[in-house]
Amino acid sequence: MQQSYTIGLAGNPNCGKTTMFNALTGSHQHVGNWPGVTVEKKIGKIHAEDVSLDIVDLPGTYSLTAYSEEEKAARNFLTDDHPDAVINVLNADCLERNLYLAIQIMELGVPLILALNMMDEVRKAGKDIDVPLLTKLMGCPAVETVARAGVGKRELIAEALRVASEKGGHAEPLRITYGPDLDPVLAEMEQLIADARFLAEKGPARWVGIKYLEGDASVVRHGRERDTGLSRKLEALVEKVSQHLQATLGASPEGIIADYRYGYLMGIAKKVVRYPNINAERIRLSDRMDRVLTHQLAGPVIMALVIYLLYIITFALGKFPMDWLDAGFGWLGDTVKSTMSDGLLRSLIADGAIAGVGGVIGFVPLIMIMFFLLSALEDSGYIARMAYMLDRVFRIFGLHGTSVLPFIISGGIAGGCAVPGVMATRTLRSPKEKLATLLVSPFMTCGAKVPVFLMLAAAFFPGAEARVMTLVTLAAWVAAMLVAKLLRSTVIKGESTPFVMELPPYRMPTLRGLCIHTWERSWQYIRKAGTVILGISILLWAGMTFPSLPADQARGFADRIARAQALETAPADAAPADAAPADAAPAGGSKATAAAPAVSKDAKGDEKAKSPAVQTIEAEQSEAQLLNSYAGRAGMALGAITSPAGFNWRTNIALLGGFAAKEVIVSTLGTAYSLGKVDAEESTPLSEKIAKDDSFSKAAAIALIAFVMLYSPCFVTLVAMGREAGWKWAAFAMGFNTLLAYVVAVFLFQISRLLI
Ligand code: GDP
Ligand code: MG
Repeated sequence: MQQSYTIGLAGNPNCGKTTMFNALTGSHQHVGNWPGVTVEKKIGKIHAEDVSLDIVDLPGTYSLTAYSEEEKAARNFLTDDHPDAVINVLNADCLERNLYLAIQIMELGVPLILALNMMDEVRKAGKDIDVPLLTKLMGCPAVETVARAGVGKRELIAEALRVASEKGGHAEPLRITYGPDLDPVLAEMEQLIADARFLAEKGPARWVGIKYLEGDASVVRHGRERDTGLSRKLEALVEKVSQHLQATLGASPEGIIADYRYGYLMGIAKKVVRYPNINAERIRLSDRMDRVLTHQLAGPVIMALVIYLLYIITFALGKFPMDWLDAGFGWLGDTVKSTMSDGLLRSLIADGAIAGVGGVIGFVPLIMIMFFLLSALEDSGYIARMAYMLDRVFRIFGLHGTSVLPFIISGGIAGGCAVPGVMATRTLRSPKEKLATLLVSPFMTCGAKVPVFLMLAAAFFPGAEARVMTLVTLAAWVAAMLVAKLLRSTVIKGESTPFVMELPPYRMPTLRGLCIHTWERSWQYIRKAGTVILGISILLWAGMTFPSLPADQARGFADRIARAQALETAPADAAPADAAPADAAPAGGSKATAAAPAVSKDAKGDEKAKSPAVQTIEAEQSEAQLLNSYAGRAGMALGAITSPAGFNWRTNIALLGGFAAKEVIVSTLGTAYSLGKVDAEESTPLSEKIAKDDSFSKAAAIALIAFVMLYSPCFVTLVAMGREAGWKWAAFAMGFNTLLAYVVAVFLFQISRLLI
């Protein structure tokens, strides 16, 4: 008798199965009914060589867990009719989704051949599929077909014949992992099922277990009929793991199984589906570029040059818009001052709101240029090379090469911002490295810290500002690495997650893409200025304004000013008695951010007319006012704690403000030192004043630089950290960093005092 094989034709609805069936069998079809259901069953006969093949067109189905009549018919054919092989027709244009059925057939241990149908569509979409690789990864032969044109049907028949004759109807069942929750239960169930040969005629033991986990009603029903005791035992195991999964992941075993199957297929699809715009020429060019750009010696040198250039361009270009913005906010403040009448409200708007927000917005151009250039490096693929080169060093400290991007964005090249930096840790796929990176990124020299360092450098290391900035920037990296190592060997202990660095081919960034990336990052910063900084500026303004000096003290100052003025040349219009109430009013020492008390309250012309004697008295008055304010009292109260680090009460106020936003440190110091307008550009006057202050010293400056570098991330960064890693870690960063900063500052102050 002639040898004959039964071959099933399975596939999702609309994958071209019927078209394929017709192409394979021509007119040799026989239509019947599936047993028990009213679904049409079509069988076609073909003769190949000396064998005859019965091709059975199965109803279209997505899964083998039978719900509908069609699915049931398809499933029963596979489990009960024991075909010699199954051809799975796939719409290759949606490979991942279509392979889902293939996994289930392979778990059943039925020999399978994949027909990658609709390859014409795949090619039209500009894609391609690596068929040999797919064959290797799936462990079953795959054939490209276009059913509508009959392409590939000869190869398909040949493969079906080969598989059917070689496998004798049984293939090694596919085993994929279903994760740490299900795998152990499944193993236990598989053992029980195999030992009892339970439902062995339906499928392999592991498959039966999976069906129980999926809650397949018909398998469970069969199981209960066969062996009630064992079935109950299996159901109890499923119930237990279900409850556990529900409690921990809020998912059912069925959902988890589907997730893992898709995960498995996604991995395969990613490898085998090729996109033509990654053409061979480009990859070759990429490789040639990498031979230079990631060269052992040339690579790091080029990297340093690239970073240096980024720095130069950012500051060169950023200078102009920064000056414009600064002038704009200056004008706005002056306008408010000249149009509004003197008083609390004017002071609040001009000194609190405009000066505070202006100080932050002033940095936006710098940040935007910086982010634009960074995005260009990132989109072109260069940052991935930097990460690749730094990976080996970073690993020593428990970090990952990819940590470099968050570090740079946070201010690894001075002038960044930790908020987008913390968010950039999302690109780290290994959780422990991500957490460590996120916690130490805020050490970097963000744009808000730059003015602090510049001011202190100008005051105590005049002429060496550039060297100080370079040292500070480097110190931040060293601190980040060392603290990362400390964290990774204590609170975030654990092996490095193995993870292969990918080097995507270089590509030309698009202007549109760069603009979008730049805007996304800059917007974070601008929004911060409009919300948090505005709020803090006003709070600090209030803190330094209230309560106002007691009436008797205020009168004392007014009298002294009046006397000083009386001594001067023109006794003319200055009516001391009238001036007194205004000067003594709360507005007297109320500059949260910018203006020197008393001095700026009057029009600029008057300022110059004031004699040095009057100015001295006014400065004394504003100091008395500040000391008397809530902020002043807080600064004094903290003195006992911070004096070992060399900080005076004015510094304490500024550092308190810095908890909320580092931007306010310099402006608050400026106010506290009763100076004229102080901001990033005009930090010289403040630095001169500080240099002359007896309670400040070189040693204190060094300690302050270290403290500002290390202490608690600003409020907005903490929020970003909380969202990214959980509030526990945000709280940790606040406490731990501040403690660390304090210890380092005290240490540095005490040491430098001895040495300098
Ligand atoms: P079934 O639901 O799996 O039986 O799918 P059909 O055989 O009814 O085909 C669904 C649609 O896909 C029909 O319009 C076919 O003409 C079309 N089709 C089938 N195979 C191919 C193919 O290889 N390429 C293209 N472009 N269309 C196909
Ligand atoms: Mg059909």
